[in-house]
Amino acid sequence: MKVNFEKVKSDKIKNSFLEALSKFEDLHEYPITLYQKRVKSSTMQAQPIISLKNIFSGVKRYRIKLGVYVSSSERLKIEEVPQKVMTGWFAHELGHLIDYLSYSNFGMIKYGLQYVLSNSFKIKAEHEADYIAIKKGFRDEIIATKEWVLNHDLVGQRYKDRLNKYYLSIEQVELCNVNEPPFVPIIE
Ligand SMILES: [Zn+2]
Repeated sequence: MKVNFEKVKSDKIKNSFLEALSKFEDLHEYPITLYQKRVKSSTMQAQPIISLKNIFSGVKRYRIKLGVYVSSSERLKIEEVPQKVMTGWFAHELGHLIDYLSYSNFGMIKYGLQYVLSNSFKIKAEHEADYIAIKKGFRDEIIATKEWVLNHDLVGQRYKDRLNKYYLSIEQVELCNVNEPPFVPIIE
């Protein structure tokens, strides 16, 4: 694993990340930076690192940006969430990276535009990240993350609404057959 922690001080965060990443063998050859910073809009974000140097070269590098607080909450620190929830969160983000692997760096730019412009593309991408994490063996952790977010009093309603709109529901995850990619229609 080629992991670089940037501004991450908590050992709990580092260990959860390494635990999740250890099961994503297909990612072990790529440099991944886990970077913690105060961000307003989201708790975590998986990003390809694209520069002029690698846009056509095929060299792939990734970064996962991590907030200090859970979403918009000013009181809930990420390092304080239960370990299982944190691991589920990371498994989802690493699911995104697996999804990104099939795209060229140039293709990722188009991907990014579609993600921003199209709700159905965004839903498909978020569902795919969950499916990949489930296939890697993190079904219980993915459920734990969703239950924790949806039931926590200090997590803002906007974040919960976004989770309900774009992500797989707990029932859909429970129905997942780990060996077979399930068919779940997108209902808009
Ligand atoms: Zn996601």
